[in-house]
Amino acid sequence: MNYLFLGITVAILLISLILLITGFRRNARDAVPTGSMVYGDLHSRGTTMRSHTYGLSGKPDMVVKSGRNLIPYEYKNTDTAKPRDGHLVQMGAYFLILEDLNPGLKVPYGIIKYRNSAFKVPNSAQLRGKVLYVADQIRNNTGEPKRNHENPMKCMPCSFREICTQSLIILQR
Ligand code: SF4
Repeated sequence: MNYLFLGITVAILLISLILLITGFRRNARDAVPTGSMVYGDLHSRGTTMRSHTYGLSGKPDMVVKSGRNLIPYEYKNTDTAKPRDGHLVQMGAYFLILEDLNPGLKVPYGIIKYRNSAFKVPNSAQLRGKVLYVADQIRNNTGEPKRNHENPMKCMPCSFREICTQSLIILQR
């Protein structure tokens, strides 16, 4: 009887462990939106998306189409407990660009995946407003605030580089 009880307990523990492990894997995979990939991937990046309406550009790691929805996905190779402000602004720029380039489709949210976490970022009027505010600040920049780095690699993926007077990237227009 004791052996039977012990056997059942071990079996339950093993099943729980397997469910826990597969659950973690599923959570990690679930960060990638379901649907068909219509732009880029983590290995071969797509061409730059450009919105002439807003003067914004961007290269999300992936854009997935699910029904009438487009969902941008961005991977950041770092750990964090909450999305970083700059990454939220970058995602907001993707929202504006995708909406401008795809007037018949919706962009309800985006995913920012970090090494240890993932966040669903709603496409809110507040975030879009913040992006447009930052874009205006950069566009009308007269020298202040000053760029705080000398690294062209930071400007390369920046969504504001086409309107930024302090960009370290020389663009062919
Ligand atoms: S200086 Fe570079 S990184 Fe900073 S806003 Fe301009 S383009 Fe972007």
